[in-house]
Amino acid sequence: MKNNLVQFVLDVLFPSFCVGCNTEGSVLCTTCRSAIVIQRVPTRPSGKSLLSVLYAATEYREQKTVSLLIAALKYHGVKHAAVHCADILTTHLLHTGFTPRNDHLVVAVPLHKKRLRERGFNQAELIAKNIAAQYKIPYAPRALTRREHTPPQTEVHERAKRLENVKGAFVCYNVKTVRGKSIILIDDVTTTGATFEACAHALKAAGAKKITACAIAK
Ligand SMILES: [Zn+2]
Repeated sequence: MKNNLVQFVLDVLFPSFCVGCNTEGSVLCTTCRSAIVIQRVPTRPSGKSLLSVLYAATEYREQKTVSLLIAALKYHGVKHAAVHCADILTTHLLHTGFTPRNDHLVVAVPLHKKRLRERGFNQAELIAKNIAAQYKIPYAPRALTRREHTPPQTEVHERAKRLENVKGAFVCYNVKTVRGKSIILIDDVTTTGATFEACAHALKAAGAKKITACAIAK
């Protein structure tokens, strides 16, 4: 009740506008949501991969609304956009026949401390928490740590260079939680999959059984 009241006051003070059509009411209206083309099959991880499956719900370049939704979350601090991102991802997972199991554990791709300070939150973590809640499977906060500051992936182009760029960038200090688990690894966007691979490397080293990587867009 209290939360509803707080939400009501927040809605009055800071009304949401749809990223797709600018209609007032929600960060993503039902019309724009239903126009998003969601992939029906998983993406094949490229090259030699540590990932069991790579799920990318949408095509970033073709789905303008999705890129605007992610931008609202990452760069404009619209945290509620994470709920819509999670919904897009679970719809994709449903299409592909994915079913959560009791040995699953949800982990988010971490931000570097410096970027976390600048942004104030990790968008992948917000999405991951929603996914875990929807599937009623545990979420492991801070399972991974980003070790060194790597330049944003958008500044490094070729796949080989990207892999080199993030190699050894992650470490798992939470071995007890991760060991023997099937990890559902969440990020907002994947391009070459290099970040996922580097995270998978750290998680496998900590004894994770298999890694299923999930992104809202590729
Ligand atoms: Zn709309």
